[in-house]
Amino acid sequence: SDLLNVAWARAWVQASAAVVGKNRMALIDLDRAIGDGDHGENLDRGFTAVLAKLEAAETATIGDVFALVAKTLMSTVGGAAGPLYGTAYLRAAKAAPAETVDAAGVADILEAAVGGIVARGKAELEDATMVDAWSPAAEAAREVATSGGSARAALAAAATAARTGAAATEPLIARKGRASYLGARSQGHRDPGAESSALLLQAAVEAAEA
Ligand code: ADP
Ligand code: MG
Ligand code: MG
Repeated sequence: SDLLNVAWARAWVQASAAVVGKNRMALIDLDRAIGDGDHGENLDRGFTAVLAKLEAAETATIGDVFALVAKTLMSTVGGAAGPLYGTAYLRAAKAAPAETVDAAGVADILEAAVGGIVARGKAELEDATMVDAWSPAAEAAREVATSGGSARAALAAAATAARTGAAATEPLIARKGRASYLGARSQGHRDPGAESSALLLQAAVEAAEA
């Protein structure tokens, strides 16, 4: 079927833990350049904890999966990214209180996630944060949904847009978070949170293909 289901949401968590683990050092290196170097370690710890909790948990809806992710990331990741990702998944959970989602549902999830990140961190587009990955991702998913595309196509478009958005943080001056303390010296570096966001959306696509 074209719909994405609870098994997809659970597979997304597994793929997220795998991709974050694999890119742990790369994320650490990005955060070393313009931050304090803990982003890869923080996220890896968080998703390892999420994976363990998920294995023991019953999840009736997609939202149940995201709620478990939110709660666990909030209590294990720390720093700026913990509460930001926690809020993103919490809002996403509320947007998907169902067993399945279609393309519009995918767009709803991503829009809710961006809304949570912005509510929490007050960043705008081109402040060189994770918003620069999530916001174009949500927009791309909505476009696919509006033009009648599939849930998987919406997700794939979102991941591509997040990848482009993360790369586009490189020439920007960071205006939020730790990197903003560097002012113009933050230019020329990819934002670690935008990169991890692109990786998570790539994991969502991989989970939908499996
Ligand atoms: P910390 O900076 O506390 O060590 P992390 O290294 O885990 O936290 O995460 C840093 C990432 O958090 C940044 O790369 C950026 O994407 C994101 N970030 C920081 N502040 C904000 C904010 N106000 N709004 C959105 N994203 C933010
Ligand atoms: Mg850091
Ligand atoms: Mg830190």
